[in-house]
Amino acid sequence: MKRFDITNCDLPKRTYLGFIYHSECSECGSVIEFDFDRDYLSYPSIGENTKAYTVCNDCGKEHFIFIKLSMQAEITENEG
Ligand SMILES: [Zn+2]
Repeated sequence: MKRFDITNCDLPKRTYLGFIYHSECSECGSVIEFDFDRDYLSYPSIGENTKAYTVCNDCGKEHFIFIKLSMQAEITENEG
């Protein structure tokens, strides 16, 4: 089995990651949500920080986080 780290890959304009990250609003203490199943990252780069944004539903404060994507490829079968 061979595994490779992907360091350069063109990801699409609408890259959905399929998970939800919860954090706490620094202003009012409510739970805030970054829903990457519903909201996409636009042309994210592998190995670099991509900024994501959400708004607290209770107080309206804007929140930002940075996401760094990593990707691997694995050769699972050698046919022929
Ligand atoms: Zn808040």
